[in-house]
Amino acid sequence: MQIDWNQTINEIFSDKLSCLRCGSLSSEIVAGFSRSPAAAEYSPRFHDCAHKDECDARKLVVVCESCAKDLRLRAQRVDAEGLMTMILNECRRELEECLDYLADYWQEDLDIDPADMDKRLEDVDPEVFADEGTSRRRLEDEYLSLHRWFRSHHCRIPNPGWRTELVEESIELGYDTLLGE
Ligand SMILES: [Zn+2]
Ligand SMILES: [Zn+2]
Repeated sequence: MQIDWNQTINEIFSDKLSCLRCGSLSSEIVAGFSRSPAAAEYSPRFHDCAHKDECDARKLVVVCESCAKDLRLRAQRVDAEGLMTMILNECRRELEECLDYLADYWQEDLDIDPADMDKRLEDVDPEVFADEGTSRRRLEDEYLSLHRWFRSHHCRIPNPGWRTELVEESIELGYDTLLGE
C-alpha cells in the first residue's frame, strides 16, 4: 500500500482546512491523541487492528476545534510540517514497539515456557511472526513515504539519527529492515 502524503496533507490543508470528523471547512485544525475506538476514523494514519470496536491504542486525530471540544481532545494547532512531525513520531514509536516485541515482549505476550526462552519467535510461532512482519513492513513503508514528504518539501527531518539507531537495533536482533541502506 502506497501512502500519498501529498494528497492527504493537501486535502487537510488546502485553501481551507477540512476536519476529518465533521468535514467542515475551518480556519484552524488541531491535532491530538485519543484512545477512543471511534477516533480511528479521524486519524490521517492507517491503524491495522483486529478489534476496531474496542481498540484502545493511541491514535493521532486531526479535527476542527469544535470537534475537539466534543471529543474532549487535548489538542494543539498544527501546520503541515507540525502535523507531519507528529505523524513521523507516531510511526517511529510503533516501529520501536515492533522491535521491543521481537526482542522479548513476545515471550510474555505468548506466555511461553521459560525453557523456551532462547528460542526465536519465528520458530515458536511462525504465524504470529508473519503477522508481525506484515505490520512492520507497512510501518516501514509509511516511514519511507513520510521521509520522502520531508525531503520533497525541503523540511528538516527531526532527529535524523533515529533511523540509524533503528537499523542497528534490527540488525543486532537479526531482522532486516527497509530503512537500511
Ligand atoms: Zn469538525
Ligand atoms: Zn487497534
